[in-house]
Amino acid sequence: MNKLRRCFTRLPIKWQMTLWSAFMLFVLFTVYNAVQYIGINQWMSSREVESVRKTMGELQSYFTEKSDILDAGQIVRSKHFIQSINQKNQLIRILDNEGKPVLTVLTDLPEDWVAPRPVTKTELESVWHQEEHLLVLRAPVVSEKFRGTIEIVSNLETFDELKGVITLVMILGGIGGILLSGLGGLLLAGRLLRPVQSITETMRRIQRNGLQERVPFYDNKDEISALAHVFNEMMDQLETSFRKQKQFVEDASHELRTPIAIISGHLSMLNRWGKHDPVLVDESLLASLEELERLKGLVQGLLELTRAENASPDGAIELFDLGETIAQIVKNVSVVHPEFEITTEVDALKGVQIRLVPNHIKQILLILLDNAVKYSTKRNKIHVSAVLVEDRILRIAIRDYGMGIPKEEVEHVFDRFYRVDKARSRKRGGSGLGLSIAKRLVEKYHGDIRLESEENQGTTVTVQLPFSR
Ligand code: ATP
Ligand code: MG
Repeated sequence: MNKLRRCFTRLPIKWQMTLWSAFMLFVLFTVYNAVQYIGINQWMSSREVESVRKTMGELQSYFTEKSDILDAGQIVRSKHFIQSINQKNQLIRILDNEGKPVLTVLTDLPEDWVAPRPVTKTELESVWHQEEHLLVLRAPVVSEKFRGTIEIVSNLETFDELKGVITLVMILGGIGGILLSGLGGLLLAGRLLRPVQSITETMRRIQRNGLQERVPFYDNKDEISALAHVFNEMMDQLETSFRKQKQFVEDASHELRTPIAIISGHLSMLNRWGKHDPVLVDESLLASLEELERLKGLVQGLLELTRAENASPDGAIELFDLGETIAQIVKNVSVVHPEFEITTEVDALKGVQIRLVPNHIKQILLILLDNAVKYSTKRNKIHVSAVLVEDRILRIAIRDYGMGIPKEEVEHVFDRFYRVDKARSRKRGGSGLGLSIAKRLVEKYHGDIRLESEENQGTTVTVQLPFSR
């Protein structure tokens, strides 16, 4: 049994479904046919018995009518009447007291198939003569001058034939039904499993050709189409993230290449003919150090970007006083850039405790203040303000009065490695990662970061963060 089950489960689902449906139909058909067969059989045999009993009844009432004159002679004279009520394949015999036939009337049924036997009460029996199935009904007949037995023998040949035909029809019907159900199951399984097959094929194509392959779309509302749909969506996401990764690696290596190329250029120049020229050595070393510094910044930026992408806003959540944190950061920046006048307007946060990861807030503020400082030209003034909106959103705005950003460039500044003025930004040590790191962090909190700017007038960056207390 276990072996059979193992064999079955090894078959393709299509065949399993086909076999199951055929098997179920076979069981159903067999039970149905058996019940039907028994029913028909009983109904038919009861009809045969009834018909024989009816003939017997007619004979008995005929003899009862004539009971005062009934004797062997009278019985022989009744031959005509008995012949008229006898049926095909039936024998009627009147026996005397000793069981000797007084009168025998028959149609197509030899007399010697059933031996005569007198009875004292009505008896019904079913006997076989070789292949022939016979029904025998015996009943006593009694009058003043005669005492005997009426014997009716009926050949059930037609009944048996009919039974045979019904059985044959049922078996043939059963086999036909099973074959049809198997075929139906096969077609249905094929139809149902087509999308699954096409998903498998698509997966194979993906293995061979890459992530751009998709499952052909079936506009059905069934579960398998839903699976195909989800699979396609998943592949879309996978492809996008794969493309982004690729783009990131390309961008990063491109960015890393420039400082490495500069350092390598200086070093090989020194190696070839500058070793003994102190001015050249000085110059090259300085330039190389500067590039190394950039390289360090770039690597640090990349690291922070990765961290920001994987940051969890629930990680190190703390209840802290944001007003104080902002004041502290502004103080630190002022110490490094004493030439700047940084004003704050954070009264709204006084005494308010907020649940966020403090390091993330600090990082965002430092990135924005660094930009404000870096891209200020004549007016060294920065204004930091913070308000609470509806007691659930923290809004921080940092305004500077620097060079600003041309309108058409504003939408790109949050892209990785994007710098408005590459040459100028490079001189200022920018790698184009600050704002994208800030954006990633803000998005982790389902917040929002916006930049408004006017060239040569200044820039305002607004960060909105939902928070809880
Ligand atoms: P990093 O911050 O990684 O050192 P970066 O400052 O160049 O480098 P981002 O902070 O992402 O990179 O800024 C992207 C670009 O947007 C900058 O190169 C600069 O051109 C422009 N930008 C950002 N902030 C300002 C600002 N406050 N005023 C003018 N331009 C700005
Ligand atoms: Mg920056």
